[in-house]
Amino acid sequence: MALVAALAANVVCGKDIVIHAGVLIDGVADTPRSKVSVVVRDGRIVAIQEGFTAPAGAEVIDLSGETVLPGLIDCHIHVSAVLPNRANATEYQLTHSDIDRAFDGALFARRLLQQGFTSARDVGGGDETVALRNAIDAGKVPGPRLLVSLEPLGPTAGHGDPRSGLDPKLMHPGWENGVVDSPDEARIRVREHKRRGADLIKLMPSGGIASTGDDPRQQLMTNEEMQVAVETAHSLGMKVAAHLYPAAATENAVRAGVDSVEHGSFASAQTLALMRTHGTYLVPTLSVYEVFYTVAREHPELLTPGTAPKELANDLLPKKNFALAVKSGVKIAYGTDLGEGDHAMEFRLLIENGMKPMDALFAATRDAATLLGTSDHVGSLRAGYLADIIAVSGDPLRAADALEHVTFVMKGGTVYRLNGLPTPAAAN
Ligand SMILES: [Zn+2]
Repeated sequence: MALVAALAANVVCGKDIVIHAGVLIDGVADTPRSKVSVVVRDGRIVAIQEGFTAPAGAEVIDLSGETVLPGLIDCHIHVSAVLPNRANATEYQLTHSDIDRAFDGALFARRLLQQGFTSARDVGGGDETVALRNAIDAGKVPGPRLLVSLEPLGPTAGHGDPRSGLDPKLMHPGWENGVVDSPDEARIRVREHKRRGADLIKLMPSGGIASTGDDPRQQLMTNEEMQVAVETAHSLGMKVAAHLYPAAATENAVRAGVDSVEHGSFASAQTLALMRTHGTYLVPTLSVYEVFYTVAREHPELLTPGTAPKELANDLLPKKNFALAVKSGVKIAYGTDLGEGDHAMEFRLLIENGMKPMDALFAATRDAATLLGTSDHVGSLRAGYLADIIAVSGDPLRAADALEHVTFVMKGGTVYRLNGLPTPAAAN
């Protein structure tokens, strides 16, 4: 505890911190380095030196028995989402306000940071997610650096329409915030989301699985709606993430210029080749299928009306299809599609389904930062970059579950986890 207090004080008075890394995976090189010192000053990495150095006056953090990595990045979260095995989804939606969701988000964001995720991209929230991002940035609440979209944009009765499956006379202010049924509406919604504080735009061009009434094999937005949404978002400096399943819809969205295909689970070799040509990222989100498949089998009554059969029919396909993606050479970024829950499980799933461990690490660090547009200051450990640094006790290149046991978390030079335990900064 004394060391932790000293570390917190050092951040305030700008004293150097030196991390002794037994093994360093820096998110740049293809191979790890051993016995390296990472020097941190005023929240940034100022040098990475061979051997264990101890400059006079610097505080040393001894991670000489551990593997040190860049802070992890989850490109597909819903920070306020509770695990589906905890509550009936429809009941939860109708009995919780945006303010309740803000408190859930604060709790799950703190846990995400403790799991080693120092950045994350929320692709479907509301004003509460914008407020949470701002509170984290202001240091009021501990959590990853968040980039947030607001409500995903999609058509009436599509994957993002909150009214599907409910009494058609029910209405709630805000439920229409993501509904677009024409190119003009898409343009207006993108501009509104910009005004309300979105960092990026999320589209729902195809149907989905965990939703009532829509078909994951259909394209539901028109090509023109997608094109206008993408063009407007890009002109305002926002990237576009698109939820997609079917091959044809995915190809149309790629041609419309989306920056990432989320899920992409029914993509063909041709789809993946097109994505590669356009430089479109794939965010496979294998974790969410693992989680929902179990709930659909064991507690189908907890899911939104009629969705358990869709989960059972579709949730095993993404893993099968992932081998095609690995083979295609498409750019892959790490994403779980979870809020509450274990965000490190995606590593095991990526590796078990054919990705090389180092590539999975790049997907969650350097490559994720490139997708987010933040690769000039996070995602790798280099001089000048923010000191977002984690450590694990095992070897993540040999043990796929090593990242499920994070012992150390630093974000922007502040230590949030040390010796496997949260520090006072983690509680604020
Ligand atoms: Zn999602």
